[in-house]
This record gives sequence, structure tokens and C-alpha cells, in this order.
Amino acid sequence: MLIVANWKMNPPAKKDMIKLVESVEGGLWGIKGAATVLAPPFPWLNFVKRRLRKSKLGAQNTFWEKSGAYTGEVSPQMLKDSGVNYVIVGHSERRQKFGETDDMIAKKVKASIKSGLIPVVAVGEEHRGSFNSDGSLDNHIDSIVGEEVKKALSLLNPVEVRKVIFAYEPIWAISTTPGAKVALPQDALSAAIYIRKILTDFVSSKSAREMPILYGGSVDSKNVAAFAKEGGVDGFLVGGVSLRAKEFVELVENSLV
Ligand code: PEP
Repeated sequence: MLIVANWKMNPPAKKDMIKLVESVEGGLWGIKGAATVLAPPFPWLNFVKRRLRKSKLGAQNTFWEKSGAYTGEVSPQMLKDSGVNYVIVGHSERRQKFGETDDMIAKKVKASIKSGLIPVVAVGEEHRGSFNSDGSLDNHIDSIVGEEVKKALSLLNPVEVRKVIFAYEPIWAISTTPGAKVALPQDALSAAIYIRKILTDFVSSKSAREMPILYGGSVDSKNVAAFAKEGGVDGFLVGGVSLRAKEFVELVENSLV
């Protein structure tokens, strides 16, 4: 299981951040079988890095250029040189609140891989739809998730495609979405089947089966076991709960079913 903690723009103060990373890493110390990634805000990458005992370091965003007149942006190589291993690309908040398009995300994915980062690409539809049990879709979702997956991979060769991790995050199930609905393991399973099917347009079916797919959307210490058992995914992208050290550690433990 791979569990990626997306802290977003949290916690608000440095002392809380230090407490969080130390509690999480202390709690994770004895747990075997789970790989964890902590993705703090940029200014705290180094503080977090120095306190990591178990987890790898993640970033929440990057830019596609190497350097230049891009005020406020951070390149993949800068992240790599700061000890970052994973980078979340295309989170729905970046798409919705900061206007990121599929084309921008494709460039970010390409640049991340070129610098040796593993991109965790978030895809997901805004409104609840329905997947059929065989993973086929009977509504508009294919035009959203399918297009997001295809576009994210559009600049990559097959060797690069195999380095991408997709995180299926239905926006309607993310805890901060007003009126968020509960997703079922079946939703994750259907999406994982569907995404793997699309991946076979880019790589062999064996490679598509081996590429990790994560689920994200209100995953907590109680529901994680069901998603791990029945969701057909290889791990989780976790928002809200990743800020509560004790529950996050329980989530990681409970994901190992
Ligand atoms: C997210 O925003 O990536 C996410 C999964 O958030 P939460 O776990 O809070 O639903």
C-alpha cells in the first residue's frame, strides 16, 4: 500500500507542522508493509525532510520549466534537489481554483518524470455518476476521467508512462467539497478498472496491471479497510485525515488488510 498525505496549505503554523511530522513519523515507525509519503507546503519541505524516518517526501505541485521568469513557480529539479521523491500533479483544487488545464498538467507530468520525480496525477469527475460493474461507463464520466488520464500521458513515451501513479479522486467525495457524498469501494474499483483499461492504450496490459492506482476522497481510519479490500486500488491519497497524526497512523495500519 502507498499512502500519500496531502497536507494542502496546512497546518497553519510551524510549531504545529513540526508536531505533526514528528507524531506521524513516530507512529509509523513500527508499521511494516506500507509506504508513506508526506506532502507538506513548499516552505516546509526541508523541515519535514529532516524529520522523516519512514516516509518519503512529496510536493503538492510543480512547474514545467527548468528556470526563468516564472514568479512564484518551482521546478521539478528544484524539488528533486530538495529531497522530494513524489509530486502531486493536477489535484482538483489546482484545476478548479487555479485554472490548471489538462495541457498544463501534461507538461508538469513530463517535466516531473524528466527530473526523476514520481508524479501522482489526480483525476476525477465533479458530480456523482455511475460506473457499470465491468468498469464501463454509462454517462459523462468517461469524457472527464478518461480525457484527464489520456491528456496527462499525452507527452510521454511508454517507459515514462509506467512511472505515473494515478489517483482517482471523485471531487464529489472529497471531504471539503460542500455536500460531499460517501463513495463506495465499488466506485474506486470501477474507476480503477476503467483507468487500467485506458492505460492499455499506452502500455502493455501487464504494465497497466502493475501501475499503482490510488483512491482519494474522505478516506479515514474506519473506511480504509473496505477500500483496501474491495476497491481494487494500491493505496490512497489522503487529505483531511493526514493532518490528524493519530488517525492517520491508524489509517495506514488499517489499510494493511
Ligand atoms: C484530497 O483533497 O486529495 C482528499 C482526498 O481530501 P480528503 O481526504 O479530505 O477527502
